Amino acid sequence: MTNGDIFASHMYNEVIRQYDEVAEFINLDPNIKERLKLPQRALTVTFPFRRDEYEEVETVIGYRVQHVLSMGPTKGGIRYAPDVNLGEVTALAILMSWKSAIVGLPYGGAKGGVAIDPRPLSRAEKQRVTRRFTAELLPVIGVDKDIPAPDLGTDEQTMAWIMDTYSNFVGSPQPGIVTGKPASLGGSITRREATGRGAVAIAKAAMDKYNKKYSDSKVVVQGFGNVGRYAALASYEEGAKVIAVNDLKGGVYNEKGLNIPELFKHIAKENTVDGFPGGDPLDSEILELECDVLIPAAVGGVITSSNAQKIKARVIVEGANSPTTLNADKILRDNDILIIPDILANAGGVTGSYFEWVQNTQNYLWKEKELYEKLIDVLTSSFEEIWVIAEKNKCDLRTASLIKGIKRVAAAKLTRGLFP
Ligand code: GLU
Repeated sequence: MTNGDIFASHMYNEVIRQYDEVAEFINLDPNIKERLKLPQRALTVTFPFRRDEYEEVETVIGYRVQHVLSMGPTKGGIRYAPDVNLGEVTALAILMSWKSAIVGLPYGGAKGGVAIDPRPLSRAEKQRVTRRFTAELLPVIGVDKDIPAPDLGTDEQTMAWIMDTYSNFVGSPQPGIVTGKPASLGGSITRREATGRGAVAIAKAAMDKYNKKYSDSKVVVQGFGNVGRYAALASYEEGAKVIAVNDLKGGVYNEKGLNIPELFKHIAKENTVDGFPGGDPLDSEILELECDVLIPAAVGGVITSSNAQKIKARVIVEGANSPTTLNADKILRDNDILIIPDILANAGGVTGSYFEWVQNTQNYLWKEKELYEKLIDVLTSSFEEIWVIAEKNKCDLRTASLIKGIKRVAAAKLTRGLFP
């Protein structure tokens, strides 16, 4: 095979290890097998941006990786984090291909990122980074080419700046260039809440399999960004007890269940869950609390072989991308913990994005209620389908999800044939 060493990274190696195992299991055509390990396009850019101290110019590195261009435009988020690198972005782009295929969306996978810590940046600095990065991405993105969305460290405002910059270059408004935009620009509230709410819809379906009601469950949510907060809210609305949540600054615990709408009010003022008076400060490791449903919704690689043995949840719903290392995954399975993998559990995000994009490109106006129903329908039926695949193949849900995702992408490639 072509030397793919430039993509090597811990996350890439993990994604390929999973892929190899499943490709073997389903007897994947060997030509397709090698092809899908490498992204079709990977753009690396470096660019300068001006710090607020006008004299200071910093140069940063950014990426956009498109894995498969066979099934429609590519789709996936853009993250801002200090450790972003080509291998990580490639791994995440590959996961996006499987994720979209699992829920049946007409997209290939993509991902982008800038290696920068967004937290110390002022709003103006973040805006300059975003606009210049968008300009650098112009040759590869487009409404029917590649459509970015938010990911770690980026949000609706970031998408608004991308949309504005791109529209200025094109010369007309292009709302469909990004999803996860503010509602005032054609974004959908359903998209904003889709990843967290979708994860809970799937968790509910999983608890049903154990004849246990989600409303009788104790839920723990790690991370309170866009995914974690709506997962917590949806859990609360379902009547579950959300006993602990945390973010970068601290955590809060209440055995009787936290009042999540009140917590939202606290966050609006304080910008952190820390100090919320409706619970006690969390003084233990959040992932190790006893609960029915654990939702890691922060960053990747948090459940490893060093803490997996201490996890006492019955079900883990991977809200974040790649929160569990493969070694940890095995330990959890040996301990009979059901893991709903990221490519299924957080597929609500890209599904909500798809609806937003279709509305933008077709000038449709669906009501939010209608969108929400469509979202839940797509996710729960995908979950049921994966459940059946798992039963049939006597495998775990990650393997079953990969079987569905990889088969669908491979079928598209095989059917298109080889050019020239
Ligand atoms: N960044 C999100 C993910 O990892 C969403 C991607 C999208 O909506 O395009 O699934």
